[in-house]
Amino acid sequence: MSHKIGSSTLVIATHNAGKLKEISALLEPYGVKCISAGSLGLAEPAETGTTFVQNALIKARAAAEASGMAALADDSGLSVDALGGRPGVYTADWAERQWFEGNPGRDWYMAMGKVEGMLQQLGPDTDRSAAFHCVLALAWPDGDHAVYEGKCAGSLTWPPRGTLGFGYDPVFMPQGCEQTFAEIDPSEKHAISHRADAFAKLVADQFGAA
Ligand code: IMP
Repeated sequence: MSHKIGSSTLVIATHNAGKLKEISALLEPYGVKCISAGSLGLAEPAETGTTFVQNALIKARAAAEASGMAALADDSGLSVDALGGRPGVYTADWAERQWFEGNPGRDWYMAMGKVEGMLQQLGPDTDRSAAFHCVLALAWPDGDHAVYEGKCAGSLTWPPRGTLGFGYDPVFMPQGCEQTFAEIDPSEKHAISHRADAFAKLVADQFGAA
């Protein structure tokens, strides 16, 4: 990897306004301006990879090629040790409600319940270790790329606790903590999260500071 972001404009390979806002805020101190793939009218590629790295690269490369600019993508999810790393890249899919009474969308309680049901089927002594993963991929139009992997290890609890955060936060307790991600202050979560870990690595490599 030879390219650096510098103070260029970066395409953020997401159509999610929340992600764009979070990533823009993290990169602003380094003089990086962010625009979203959505606002450029770029199509979202199919996430056909079987790993977080593959999917993050698919998204970053597609945005870099289509825009002719450097692009950043992220892919994240939950891996449960006793389930062989599942749901993994299918973390969001496990929450996908099928067309149900005309009400499609994501049901995180259902997704957490699915994971819990599988763990309970394995027996009461089953290892409840899990980790959130976040991969950030940078890609340039000439094919150059860089990948940064972040992780937050912990364990799963049941029933879900807390109202903060999103996704699987109410069942995930980070290592050394008795509270779930949905119970702790968001600033505390952001300091120790998988996303923070991946960003620290990107910043250290790209801008020479953590
Ligand atoms: P994607 O990276 O946008 O494909 O999303 C992956 C999925 O992983 C999200 O929809 C969430 O369900 C889950 N996930 C990723 N990060 C977190 C987190 O910090 N807390 C809870 N769930 C998360």
